[in-house]
Amino acid sequence: MTSIAANMQAVIDRISRACAAAGRDPGAVALLAVTKTWPVAALREAAAAGQCAFGENYVQEALAKIDALRPLGLAWHFIGPLQANKTRAVAENFAWVHSVDRLKIAERLAAQRPAGMAPLDVCVEVNVSGEASKSGVGPGEAAALCRAVAALPNLRLRGLMAIPEPAPDADPKSAVARRRFAQLRELRDELNGGGLDMDTLSMGMSHDLEAAVMEGATIVRVGTAIFGERVKT
Ligand SMILES: *Cc1c(COP(=O)(O)O)cnc(C)c1O
Repeated sequence: MTSIAANMQAVIDRISRACAAAGRDPGAVALLAVTKTWPVAALREAAAAGQCAFGENYVQEALAKIDALRPLGLAWHFIGPLQANKTRAVAENFAWVHSVDRLKIAERLAAQRPAGMAPLDVCVEVNVSGEASKSGVGPGEAAALCRAVAALPNLRLRGLMAIPEPAPDADPKSAVARRRFAQLRELRDELNGGGLDMDTLSMGMSHDLEAAVMEGATIVRVGTAIFGERVKT
């Protein structure tokens, strides 16, 4: 087994154990392999080990990989900050966008999604820990944005995404981390109670996926635990 395959198995085992601890079906949690900065060869290894959903943060970098790996039929998720001048490339090449944080971006994605493609699955990114520096709408603004997104053509509002600040302790089951993920779940449930129909919670990364799974994550986004530490450029 390659180290990427072994690391993937270790992550899948972590997800399974967290599901067991929470009484959840492991089939209800999808693993998104986050591949920013990693070369096509690393993605090929993960794909050979059975991974079919990949998350990318930078449009230009992603397009090259999507092109190189097209015969594999992978599913591409855009998870980074999205600028208005990059929406067309995302609408034409991705299956999901996790990081919708303003209506203008959603409107552009809706207008630019090609007619022959399935609707683009989207999550609204919510800033649950409230830091000024992070992207995402505040919890109080999420309802209005979600309703507006749900009304757009060519998009399917699937749920909410969050990147909470790391908990102060390094414990992947940290109570602080769990509290922030629980806030996202409670917000999703509240919005669904108000008439929306969101089935997705995109939350949990390498250092805190257990806490996220225990609080109801349906997609965990994992890079470092599969591919190793990214070199900062
Ligand atoms: C990089 C990134 C991840 C993966 O983080 P790791 O700590 O490497 O697992 C997940 N989500 C988003 C939005 C990211 O940018």
